[in-house]
Amino acid sequence: MEVLRAGLDGAMSPRVRRGVAEWADEHRQIVVGERKGRWSTDAAPYLRGPMQAWTDPRVRQITIVSATQMGKTESLYNCIFFTIDEDPQDMLFVYPTDEDARFNNRRRFLPTVEQTPRIKRWLSDAARDTAAGEIHFRRMTMRWVGSNSGSSLESFPYGRAAIDELDRCDEEVVARVRQRLKTFADSKLLVTSTPTMVGTGIDAQYNGTTSVDEAFAAEDEGREGARVHGTPPSDRRRFVVPCPHCGIFHLRAFSLVRWEGGRGAAAKVVRHGAWMECPGCKGRIEAGVNLWQLRRGLWAPVPADAAGSSNTVHMPTRLTWPGQESGVMGPDAEQDGVVGGEFTCDERLLRFGEHVGFALHGLCSSLVAGGNPYGYAAAEWIAGGCVPTRAWCNDTLGEPWVIKGEAADVKGLLARAGGYGMGEVPAEVLAITVGCDVQQDRIFAEVLGWGERGGVCWMIEAHEIPRTRGRNLVELDELARKTWKRADGKVMQANVMAVDSGKFTDEVYRFAMRYPVGARAGEGPRRVWAVKGELGQTWPMPWRESKVEARADRAASMIGEGLPLLIVNTSYWKEHILARLAGRVEGTAMDAMDDWRFPAGVPKAYLMQLTAEQLVRDRKGGRVVASWVLRPGRTANHFLDCRVYGCAAADREGVRQLVRVAEAAKATAAKRAAEASGGGAARGGGRESLMARARDRRR
Ligand SMILES: [Zn+2]
Repeated sequence: MEVLRAGLDGAMSPRVRRGVAEWADEHRQIVVGERKGRWSTDAAPYLRGPMQAWTDPRVRQITIVSATQMGKTESLYNCIFFTIDEDPQDMLFVYPTDEDARFNNRRRFLPTVEQTPRIKRWLSDAARDTAAGEIHFRRMTMRWVGSNSGSSLESFPYGRAAIDELDRCDEEVVARVRQRLKTFADSKLLVTSTPTMVGTGIDAQYNGTTSVDEAFAAEDEGREGARVHGTPPSDRRRFVVPCPHCGIFHLRAFSLVRWEGGRGAAAKVVRHGAWMECPGCKGRIEAGVNLWQLRRGLWAPVPADAAGSSNTVHMPTRLTWPGQESGVMGPDAEQDGVVGGEFTCDERLLRFGEHVGFALHGLCSSLVAGGNPYGYAAAEWIAGGCVPTRAWCNDTLGEPWVIKGEAADVKGLLARAGGYGMGEVPAEVLAITVGCDVQQDRIFAEVLGWGERGGVCWMIEAHEIPRTRGRNLVELDELARKTWKRADGKVMQANVMAVDSGKFTDEVYRFAMRYPVGARAGEGPRRVWAVKGELGQTWPMPWRESKVEARADRAASMIGEGLPLLIVNTSYWKEHILARLAGRVEGTAMDAMDDWRFPAGVPKAYLMQLTAEQLVRDRKGGRVVASWVLRPGRTANHFLDCRVYGCAAADREGVRQLVRVAEAAKATAAKRAAEASGGGAARGGGRESLMARARDRRR
């Protein structure tokens, strides 16, 4: 009994021990890079917080979002070394791939161990099996695996785990590693990465995510505005530093970086000369006081509504230290012994909870080459053509990539939906188009109704039709021959059908050939286009026409020879669609007229696909290139493709000239009158002017 009690007492009283930072200052050597030599936490003071969290008993997960050149990997090694030396536990180290894991193990970690006597002494004689990704220490084993390796990630329990470069890892890796940790009550998981897109990977760990379904559920239950998280957020700490002039603690942000010469400034000048403007007193803060500020910096939790990737967040906290009132402060005053560098702050700010998140912002680095983090970021920005590129945001600043206003919002579209029902054709509809995306075992089809001059577009219905390969899309015949009764009683059929021929080319050609141009009502659309999408980066038109060249099938007969093919500029139409869905008006009268509508009860799953992509601008070979990528959490974009083909075909068939019959007659009469009076040819509403307008819009 006494023995048991003694044992319990021992367990209850916390062992007094040094933290990771103190351990590293004493034992750690840096063996690669420019800063070889003895480790000093004071050289990168922002790394102290994450290292403290590693030994804090309350903390179960540490999330570190980091720019490059912050010293993140070294601080991670410090945590591992501390574990080996002071707190042995079996540990799992996860990299994106097995190759990454092997490379980092052999080329970085082991050499570091070899040159750190304090750690080397723990290496077991049984040595290590680098092929199996294991290092045996006397009191623990470290296993190195790739997030893509199935079984080795699932075989053993661990007390400690770290995941590096999460954003390149397999999607499920965090959940899988947590499974490995769950048998240990005091387990610890460290997750780190350079961020990529907002809402994915490390950003999802740091900020949490709201799954769309949960957001809708919250709304249905009247909990609107409540943040519902697919993944709960960390406590979102950001590093705030005091201004040497006024003492106001602020977040460093690129909007506060200043330099002489603006956009045309020489990179070299910017690199050395840029400074930071204090958001409080507007004072000029030189890079020379960077380290002074960093050593007085704090990891403060930043409220959700102030965070995001906005660069104008100011910490409202104002902390003071002796001497500040007299206006004497800063490193110079300290050197003269005028003021002490100590200040006090609310201890609660610094207490860690279960999940701590640190954002290592590039502007806080004390390790960039040249020693001026503001100059480094500004020079990179100028080199990128004075636009924020994705690489600059992610790597240089350590911010996730967000595109404001360049992604349509499902909730907004749902709020706008209504006024007619699914499958109903409002009386104002003058033409119907069907856009189809053909996949392996399904055909996605979207039916659109167009009003006068294509100004209003009603989504009528959307279909996902199962298909069998090799039957030349007979499954689509029903929709091709379908008729709709317009609200005023008129029976309508599809005027145009546009079918994607990108993947199952021959089948689509055969389908298109079954519907000759100008079919009668009930026989099929007036026109079926085989469509091919192209990125269209080298041609500015929304579409162009081509003819299918002879293709011999297995039976050596020709398929689709001479069949008209509509080549669609997908970039152009995606931009167009996004602008319409986001309700953006681009300033021309034609655009202002555009109004896209959705029926009551439009399926959420359909809208998720329609809004699945966003525009990303990136730098490639010195120029900025825009590309379309799936948004976080979206897997399918078929209905967006349907809309691209439907809109392009509608444009090709002259939806902009679409007018009611009575008005058309009037216009024809006016034209004839103009010609008769010798006024020359009336302004044509033909192809050329339509394309010219489209080109104008793009400028
Ligand atoms: Zn200031």
